[in-house]
Amino acid sequence: MAVFLDQDIKFLPGVGPKRAELLAKELKIKTFGDLVYYFPYKYIDRTKFHKISEVHAQMPYIQIKGKIRSMETVGTGHKQRLTARFYDDSGSLELVWFQGVKWQKEHLVLNKDYIVFGKPSEFSGHINVVHPDMETEEEKQLKPSGLFQAFYVTSENMKKKYLHSKIINKFQLTLIQLGKGKIRETLPAHIINRLKLVSLEEALTIIHKPENTTDLRNARFRLKFEELFIIQLKILALKHNRENKFKGFRFAEVGFSFNKFYNDFLPFELTNAQKKVLKEIRRDVNRNVQMNRLLQGDVGSGKTLVALMTMLLALDNGYQSCLMAPTEILAQQHFQSISNFLSGMGIKVGLLTGSTKTKERKVLHKALEEGQMQILIGTHALIEDTVVFQNLGLVVIDEQHRFGVAQRAKLWQKNDLIPPHVLVMTATPIPRTLAMTVYGDLDVSVIDELPPGRKPIETHHFFENRRKQLNNFLQQQMEKGRQIYIVYPLITESEKMDLKNLEEGFRQISEAFPDVKVGMVHGRMKPAEKENAMQQFKQGETRIMVATTVIEVGVDVPNASVMVIESAERFGLSQLHQLRGRVGRGAEQSYCILMSSYKISTESRKRLATMVRTNDGFEIAEVDMKLRGPGDLEGTQQSGVGFDLKIANLGKDGEILKLARDVAQDILAGDPFLQKEENRELLTTLKATKHTEFDWSSIS
Ligand code: ADP
Ligand code: MG
Repeated sequence: MAVFLDQDIKFLPGVGPKRAELLAKELKIKTFGDLVYYFPYKYIDRTKFHKISEVHAQMPYIQIKGKIRSMETVGTGHKQRLTARFYDDSGSLELVWFQGVKWQKEHLVLNKDYIVFGKPSEFSGHINVVHPDMETEEEKQLKPSGLFQAFYVTSENMKKKYLHSKIINKFQLTLIQLGKGKIRETLPAHIINRLKLVSLEEALTIIHKPENTTDLRNARFRLKFEELFIIQLKILALKHNRENKFKGFRFAEVGFSFNKFYNDFLPFELTNAQKKVLKEIRRDVNRNVQMNRLLQGDVGSGKTLVALMTMLLALDNGYQSCLMAPTEILAQQHFQSISNFLSGMGIKVGLLTGSTKTKERKVLHKALEEGQMQILIGTHALIEDTVVFQNLGLVVIDEQHRFGVAQRAKLWQKNDLIPPHVLVMTATPIPRTLAMTVYGDLDVSVIDELPPGRKPIETHHFFENRRKQLNNFLQQQMEKGRQIYIVYPLITESEKMDLKNLEEGFRQISEAFPDVKVGMVHGRMKPAEKENAMQQFKQGETRIMVATTVIEVGVDVPNASVMVIESAERFGLSQLHQLRGRVGRGAEQSYCILMSSYKISTESRKRLATMVRTNDGFEIAEVDMKLRGPGDLEGTQQSGVGFDLKIANLGKDGEILKLARDVAQDILAGDPFLQKEENRELLTTLKATKHTEFDWSSIS
């Protein structure tokens, strides 16, 4: 059966090869299906009419009824235009055409009743409408679609060739007319009945030609649901599939090391959130299925400790673990804190980074291969093929969004027979709705509680005029023994201007505080220099660190309790939150000062106000998603999922997404391979949808 929606767009009446080429190039519309799934971005209610006397230039559009009393051609050559004086019983305005002057002049009729639709503007004190839509009463009667006008995004190139929104709408109506009875229903009847959805054909008809708002709402719901449901079904089916195909190691024992650490070595009580997550992990690793878990927790919530205790579980069951961090300094920090936690337990922990010497490397390699070393911590150096484990059972990945998908996949292959369990830790809080889509095949744990005794960071927004006050405050804090970060934006590390600002900032700070040592770190320094600068700060030799966002991820200096962010309006919300997370690690009250100029956009203002209002990473992530849209969020690009949603909006349609996921889960629980007759449409739909860019089944 040649499927109706698969036909080449050039065969749609009115399109033809030239316009087909343009549609393909500008909007990626190649088939009937591509076109009908190209949805309007807005609708205008054309049941409303305006009086000319109430029209002003700020109105987005107007619809008026009246007559043309006079017309005149002005100018010559390409400057030629046609103007017409249009009257109703309240007044008059001007209609203007720059294009198709001759044609308009021949076809427009004086003193005939017209309906005029368009965007009013002001030109030397008078209101006019440029290139209005003109319809006679009879035309309007013939075309009962005109209640809500649908608008489509078109490109400049399309407009140049007169391929306007209105023509796209005409194509849509032609297509729907032709397609009556030929558009295959994609969802099975049991879902449609259960959720009282309108049929696909109806939904597609209404979306391009709505007659009232209730119908439109129902059509949009149906299409949004379908879009999100198919994604969820796909992701969850892959997950089922993976769990069936790959076995996982079973860590059945909670053994000697785990218990000894918990009872005798752990210097504090676990938070309830940490306990809850450990239980979830325990359940995962105890059922012969590979664990793929994403551990989300705000900076400082104690994820590393959870990872450590999971490593002890592996150890008690005879397996090795590794932890991979995105930078050398982070790897070192993990190595230090884990070694400290475990000191006296008789467990061998190793560190492998790019700067590990060849001689040390050899020793490490041998210890790993022979199983004398139980835990390895490192950077992506530990992905290299020369690193061979005797029996790797667990891979922990810190700060997930810094790693590419391919790097993660490589770690999987470090154990031949059965892939190790995977725990991914991230401090970038991902809103639930997004996590359900991007990481839909991972199980997600959340640590939503900070260890007790932490004082919430106080955040303030200062304009430039309070710089003196800021310096006084910094002086005070340093007299109390605290250390300070001052961060400058360096969006791309090669921007010369930014580097100059940073160096200028460094100079000013050094002058303002002549008695203290000021350090500097930025992305263009050599790794060893960076390392050195960070170490000096960590050891308290430098009291102020002037830096770029290179300090963003994970570095722990408990004595640093003040974070100043310069030109804060230039940072994204999640980045501001990450930076703020560098302070507030010790027992002292910590501060974050956001410096900005007076002239900032409304959006920047909202971002800064959000930072001042809340410390909650998830709330911040939600606001961020609403301001920026999900496709733009840090982490989603590398995830490999294109956010090519046509109608659903992850920021706004969380409820529908949840419903879609629940329904998908229900169906797969009863029919994991979609073999039942009642789900046949679904199998067809899944097979027909384009494959995502990478093979989900092989990735953590
Ligand atoms: P994250 O990796 O989530 O940013 P860490 O695991 O580095 O957080 O923990 C931050 C700090 O809090 C560390 O110094 C750690 O030892 C400490 N910590 C972790 N869990 C607890 C707890 N339950 N009670 C007190 N302190 C804790
Ligand atoms: Mg951390």
